[in-house]
Amino acid sequence: MACTPAPPRRLLAALLLAAAIACAQACIWKFGTAPDSLAKHPGGTHWDHGFNGDDWAGVDASNKSWVCLTGKRQSPINIPFAAVQGGNSTTGNSTVAPEHQTRWNYPPLVSNGSNVEVINTGHTIQVEWLYPYRADVKIAVPANITPSTPVTAVLGLSPGSPAALVNATPAQFHFHAMSEHLVDGKYYPLEMHIVHKITNGLPACAAGCFSVTGILFELHNGDDNPLLEAIWAAMPERAGEINYLPAGAEIRLGELLPKTRDYVAYEGSLTTPPCTEGLLWHVFTQVQPISERQWNAYRRAVGLKDCTLMGDEPAAAADDDSTAAAAPNATTPAAATAAAAAAALAPPAAKAAAAAPAAAAANGGAAQPAALATLAAVAKDKRRLHRRHLLAPVAAAAPVAAAKEDDVEEGEEGQADPNEYTCKVVGYGQNYRNFQPINGRTVKLATAA
Ligand SMILES: [Zn+2]
Repeated sequence: MACTPAPPRRLLAALLLAAAIACAQACIWKFGTAPDSLAKHPGGTHWDHGFNGDDWAGVDASNKSWVCLTGKRQSPINIPFAAVQGGNSTTGNSTVAPEHQTRWNYPPLVSNGSNVEVINTGHTIQVEWLYPYRADVKIAVPANITPSTPVTAVLGLSPGSPAALVNATPAQFHFHAMSEHLVDGKYYPLEMHIVHKITNGLPACAAGCFSVTGILFELHNGDDNPLLEAIWAAMPERAGEINYLPAGAEIRLGELLPKTRDYVAYEGSLTTPPCTEGLLWHVFTQVQPISERQWNAYRRAVGLKDCTLMGDEPAAAADDDSTAAAAPNATTPAAATAAAAAAALAPPAAKAAAAAPAAAAANGGAAQPAALATLAAVAKDKRRLHRRHLLAPVAAAAPVAAAKEDDVEEGEEGQADPNEYTCKVVGYGQNYRNFQPINGRTVKLATAA
C-alpha cells in the first residue's frame, strides 16, 4: 500500500503521528523521513526537503529562528546569465576583474581506506575527509581590510582596485537533484556544492564565514562520468550511513571543476536550514556531464522508500521469537546492497553517521533529542502493540479519522528504533530548494582571462 507521510518542516511529533496513523504496515517515505534512518540530529526543528522545493520555518539548536522565509538574500537564485553577460548587472560593474577572480586548486582526495567518507546525511550525499587536505582556494578582498569587511566584498571591487587574498578551506562537498541554481530559467539534473570555510584573514570571519562553489551537471547519453565513479560506488542508500572510499581510491576534485572556470558570483545563503546569509557564491557557467545511470543512482540514494515494521517480539514469548528477531534489515534489498558495498570496502566500513560537524553546519540538521529519549524509554511496552498490528491482515491503512491512541504510540517506537524497519527504495527522490528572489542583488560574471 502507498500512503503519504506528514509534510516536511513540521515538528517531529507531527511526523510521528502521521506515520503511526497511516503506516502501521507499510508506507512510502520521502528522503530524510524513512524510519530506518540512522542519522543523528543536533537539535532544533526537524526538517527535510519538501516535494516542491518549499521553504522552511523553524529554529536551530539554540532556539534561534531560521531565516529561510524571512531573509532577503537567500540562495539559490535563477541566474540571469544573459543579462549579466550583456553587462546589465543590477548594480555596479557586472564583471569580476581578472585580478579579483577566485582561484581554485584542488589536489586529488586520496583514501587510505578510512579517511574519505561518503555519507548519506538524510539531507544529501556528502563527501568529507579526515586528513589535512592541501587544497588552495583564494578569494580576493579589498586591500584595506576593516573589522567589518565581509567575505563578499569582492563583489564591490572595481577593476584595478588594490586587493588582498584570503584562503578558503574546503570542508565538504555534496549534491542536489534537481539543481538548485537555474541559469536563465533552466534547471539541471544535478548540482554539486563545495563548501568552504574562511577563518583567517578577515576579522569579520573569525568565527567562520562560508563560501560555496557550485557545479552544474547535465545528462549525457552514454558513458558514466569517471570522476564521479568512486563517490557513486560508495553512496549509501540508508540515511545516516557512512561508507569509506576503499584504500587507494581517489576523487579528482580539481577535474570535477569545469576546464573553463568562468563563473557567476553573488551574495547568498546556505540553501538548507538555518539558511544563514552572507555567503559568497560561485556558480560555474560551464557544465559537467553525468550519465543517466549515475543520475538515477543518485536519485535512488535520496529516494522514496517503502518501509515495513519488522522484528517485533511476540507478546507472550519475547525472548525466543527467532523468526521475528532475525536482523530484519539484512534482508532488505537496500540494506543488503549497502552491506555488500560496505563489505567490499576496507574497514571501518559502514557505520552510523553521527552527523559530522561540517554536515550540520552546511546542511542544517535538527530534531528532538529529548523526545527521542522519551520514546526510547517507553519502547518496550509498545512492542506488544506492534506485534498485534503486525499479525493483523494486510489491509488498507486506517483512515486518519479512525486512528486510535495505540496507533499513535506505534509510530513513536518506530522512530526510536530504526533497525526494526525494513525499507526498500521504490521511487526516485530529490533534494533541492526552490530558487529565491534576487531582490536587487549584484550578480557578477567572471570570465577567465
Ligand atoms: Zn548544497
